[in-house]
Order: sequence, then structure tokens, then C-alpha cells
Amino acid sequence: MEKEIVLTSEEIHAICEDIASKLDNRFERDNVVLPVFVGVLKGSLNFMMDLLRCVKADVLTDYIQVTSYNGTSSTGAVILKKDLSIDVKGKTVVIVEDVVDTGLTMKYLIAYLKDKYQPKEVIVVALFDKLYLRQISLHVDYTGKVLRENKFLIGYGLDYKEVKRNVPYIYVARKEDIEQIDNLLEENK
Ligand code: IMP
Ligand code: MG
Repeated sequence: MEKEIVLTSEEIHAICEDIASKLDNRFERDNVVLPVFVGVLKGSLNFMMDLLRCVKADVLTDYIQVTSYNGTSSTGAVILKKDLSIDVKGKTVVIVEDVVDTGLTMKYLIAYLKDKYQPKEVIVVALFDKLYLRQISLHVDYTGKVLRENKFLIGYGLDYKEVKRNVPYIYVARKEDIEQIDNLLEENK
């Protein structure tokens, strides 16, 4: 089966420029000084870096880690693995996520940050919005690409069992890709 590329490096770059300029305009309009960009580890790392390179405002950066995912299907349970290191009380927080799928991870994150830190506002940025699997109502402020079909994606931060995050573009994981990764991991335990 032919490899189905969902976003090329060039398309990713264009998305970063577009979202960054919208954020810069919003910061200027609302007089936001030093917004805190919070990358959700580990999937959003590549996107966070490329997005930040396009943002002109001075920003603070931090990272949070949660886990809810096993292999290619969501478990639904969200566990906090790493908290922020900056106190974001009263600040504008921009959560940067790779994929919003069922929405449970993002819902948990927003509730957790609001409850623990009382930020001024929380803005949600996601490279992909997988609308078909949404289990709850959730507003994503800025989306790179909306996906309407059930596809498991890898590359550019997105992994299958921690492999393929370093690929510079994003593609649909085929059965043969999954098998290749499973075999590689099996042979190198
Ligand atoms: P949710 O809680 O179901 O919205 O799951 C969101 C999380 O699942 C994201 O942070 C991703 O890490 C992961 N995820 C969802 N879809 C994919 C995918 O297609 N490839 C890799 N990871 C994914
Ligand atoms: Mg993630």
C-alpha cells in the first residue's frame, strides 16, 4: 500500500506560521504580556518548537506530561506524569497539543490547570483535531488540520510505541508500518 502523507514538512511550516500570526495578533489585541506556552509531552514537542520559532511575542515556555494512551487506542484514563515548573496564576496559558482525539486529555488538562493555578485564560492549540472521536464538547481555539476519518498517525512527534517521532512529516500508520515497529522492538528488547 502506498504511504499516505497527511502533512508534509512544508505544510506543517505553513500551519505554524498561520497559527503563530493569529496568536501574535491576539496577544497584541488583548495586551497579553509573556504568555506561557505549555507543550504537552511528548507528542507536541516538534510542533511546539516549530510554532515557537514563528511567534514574535516574548513568551515563557513550560511542559506538562499526562498519559492516557496505549498503543493505537485511547484508554480514557488520564494520569498526570509531570507538572509545570512555572506558576501560571493570572497568566495567559497557551496549551500546545499534537492531537485532540476523544478530548479527554485536553479536558483533564484544562480543568487541572484552571483548578490548580487559576490562570487568566487558557488558549488551546492543536495540530490535529480528530472530530469523529470526540466524546465531550471541547473548544480548540486554533487547529492545524481537522481529521474526519479514523486514522492513526505517526511522524513529527507522533509515535507508535515511542518510535517514529523523528520523521519530519506525518503519515497514516499502515498495517505494515505497525508490524515493522513491533518486529523491531521485539528483536531489540
Ligand atoms: P484523547 O485524550 O483521546 O484526546 O487523546 C489525545 C492523545 O492521544 C494525544 O495527546 C496523542 O498523544 C494521542 N493520539 C491521538 N491520536 C493519535 C495518533 O493518531 N497518533 C499518535 N498519537 C495519537
Ligand atoms: Mg499527546
